[in-house]
Amino acid sequence: MEKILIATGNAHKVSEFSSILRNLGADVELVSPKDLGDDSEPVENGDSYAENSRIKASYYYEKYHMPTIADDSGIEIDFYDGKPGIYSARFLPEMNYKEKNEYITSQMKGSRNRGASFHCVVTFIKDGITKQYEGILYGKIAECPSGSEGFGYDPIFIPEGHDRTNADLGQEFKDGHSHRALALKKWVEDNES
Ligand code: IMP
Repeated sequence: MEKILIATGNAHKVSEFSSILRNLGADVELVSPKDLGDDSEPVENGDSYAENSRIKASYYYEKYHMPTIADDSGIEIDFYDGKPGIYSARFLPEMNYKEKNEYITSQMKGSRNRGASFHCVVTFIKDGITKQYEGILYGKIAECPSGSEGFGYDPIFIPEGHDRTNADLGQEFKDGHSHRALALKKWVEDNES
């Protein structure tokens, strides 16, 4: 089983990565910086998902010289002209996610401009070689937050072809269909060949 360092301090992401990769039948053991007693984090000062994802992966790869995987992700909301995008984690910083989701849906009340998409770029570095994989999940913003699974903006995002939010559809749905799952599927396929 290959040991891979997962370049994030976000416990939700670690558990989603594990669950998605288990689902895909990937024979890997994920180790997080926290498992190594490392709470440090790189400065994400890139201006794209790809750049921030590469910054995270190379920060830990340079430190530990282990095969390292990272992702950078975010939600793009048409009503806000595609924002917050790469700034999703830092959007409305004075609010928790419950408050952010209520604020967004209340601002969008009555609007028909509800399109949105989740984006993810996964970076994998091994033996000094860097590869990247992208996943996008299209959908729309719900009228009001709903559901208790997932994290972040999952309670307000309804994926295309569904009438419930990611948080209602649950982890099993996200494991198979999320932006992160789509990017990781490409990574698994590339590493098998
Ligand atoms: P980063 O990739 O750690 O810089 O942060 C991405 C941010 O985008 C998260 O903190 C969430 O706000 C949002 N986000 C990314 N992926 C998801 C997801 O699967 N569900 C809900 N929110 C997400």
